[in-house]
Order: sequence, then structure tokens, then C-alpha cells
Amino acid sequence: MSDKVRVRFAPSPTGSLHIGGARTALFNLLFARHNGGKFILRIEDTDTERSTEESARQIVRSLRWLGLDWDEGPEKGGEYGPYFQSQRLELYRKEVQRLLDEGKAYYCYCTPEELAERREAALKAGKAPRYEGCCRELTEEQKKKFEAEGRKPTVRIKVPQEGQTVVDDLIRGQVVFENSVLDDFIIFKSNGIPTYNFACVVDDNAMEITHIIRAEEHLSNTPKQIQVYKALGYDIPKFAHVPMILAPDRSKLSKRHGATSVEEFRDQGYLAEAIVNYLTLLGWSPEGNEEIFDLEKAIKEFSLERVNKTAAIYDVKKLTWI
Ligand code: GLU
Repeated sequence: MSDKVRVRFAPSPTGSLHIGGARTALFNLLFARHNGGKFILRIEDTDTERSTEESARQIVRSLRWLGLDWDEGPEKGGEYGPYFQSQRLELYRKEVQRLLDEGKAYYCYCTPEELAERREAALKAGKAPRYEGCCRELTEEQKKKFEAEGRKPTVRIKVPQEGQTVVDDLIRGQVVFENSVLDDFIIFKSNGIPTYNFACVVDDNAMEITHIIRAEEHLSNTPKQIQVYKALGYDIPKFAHVPMILAPDRSKLSKRHGATSVEEFRDQGYLAEAIVNYLTLLGWSPEGNEEIFDLEKAIKEFSLERVNKTAAIYDVKKLTWI
């Protein structure tokens, strides 16, 4: 792993850049620049049903407008483009093949209907639904039979059922997950496309990411990702899960709480500097009482230790510096 700080912002292009995503990008950039490291932009567009090129373009435009420029990526016309996962499928296929060859992953021929049925039966029996590993030990003959039936397999990773997975989080401290709540989850879909938890780990390793700073909603994915790191024999980076942003009434932020996307702010005539200033203080507390932060000053002062451990409250009325 790199001995220099390397971080990334990895949005899925399924909509415009929201205030939460913009804050994640900003905190990553501040952390990288404060530590003389690199900030990378990776568009996670493997979900072909939900991803759109327009959304990717919009996210890039919003980040550029905010002045949150990334430091590397494929070069085009003297500028760095972001990395796109859809252009990196070969790498994920190579790594999943390695796990299959090493017996750390296996083909699963269960159909979505069969899985849904079992799920329902488990719920009816008052049990938490989980994949019971029925395709773990299939013989070649059984596989051939399923293939002859036209079933297209997914790939699942073998997850140990004993013990615990500990996430050492730089903001939340140690978070312990019992392995018994994890199951052999899918890392490659039957259409030959990797799932988020797999592609994300392969890329974070390939891009030598040292710190994963992302929204708290991903904390439950982290023990799964740690299983992928272990199976692939990669070094595990440091994690920092940033608490949520809530509305003033502590409900989930939505359209009814005013503008929530960077494009909307731009269209309404806000200054990019005002947004950056507001986002800097949305869940991060400086040492003094200072309230005016431009990027340069925020870079100088930023540290993960001063990221708040509780949810930030978003109040668009406080964003008045137009
Ligand atoms: N594509 C994921 C998202 O947009 C990235 C999560 C991560 O940073 O690992 O939520």
C-alpha cells in the first residue's frame, strides 16, 4: 500500500450530486491536500440499469464548479478524466477468476425465484433470511445439469461463519460485526457484471487507496468488503464513516427541505465558495470559532479527529451568502 495518503470519491451516477455526496468529496479532498496526498474520482457505473452518462457528466460538472478537482485519472486534452468502472471490467473478471481458481468463491445456480421463495419461508419461520450455501459444494455433474437447464450462475464469495469482523473506524472507533450475520454474498452477477462490494474493493486496492472516507450508510458494507480484501490477499485500508446529514426536524433529507443538489444551488445563483464554506462546517468543527472557510483555509485546518460523531443538521436557510 502507498505510504502517501490516497483517497477517493466514488459516486454512482444515478442522479445529480447531492449535498451529502458533495460533502464526502470535499472531506476527501481536504484530507488529501492537508496530508500532501492524492484525491481520486471514480465513477461507479457498473449498474447499467441505474447509471446514466448524463448523471456522470452532471457530477463531474458540479465537482468542477465547486473547485473540487481530482489529481489523477485517464488524461484527455490536458485534463484528467475520472476513472469509470465500466471501463475496468477486465480487471474485476481477472480477480474473480483468481478467487474461483483458489476455491474462495463459487458459482451459484439458484434462480432469483428460488431465492425469493426461501427468503419468504425463512421470514415465515421467524428467521433472518440468509443464503445457506447450497451451491458451495456442487459436483461438476450438478453444474453441467444446471447449465443444460439454461441457468446462468452468479459468483458468491465464501464467508467464514465463525468469529467477528472488526471495523476500526477513524471516526466511530471499533465497530464489531458477528460473521454469523454475513452470508456468502454475490460478488458477480449472472450478467458478468461485478457487484458494488467487489468492484469497489478491487479498485480501492488497484488505486492504492489508503483511507476510505465515505457516508455512514456504507458502514454495513464494510465487513463484507473486509471479507473481499482478505480473500484477495489485499492490505486493508483505514476507514472513516462520516455521520449522516439530517433535516432540521431530524428526518431524512429530501426535496421538501429545499435545494439539496449542487446543480440547483448553481442555478439559483449561489456562489461556489458559499457552498464549500457551508459544507466544510456541515459535520466538521474547527478548533476556534471561525465561520468563514475558503478551500485553502479548510485544507490547512482539516482533520478527521474533528469530524462530528453525530448527524449534521442541514438547514438551507443558513446558506444565505449569495
Ligand atoms: N458508489 C457508492 C455510492 O455512491 C460508493 C460508496 C463508497 O464510497 O464506497 O454510494
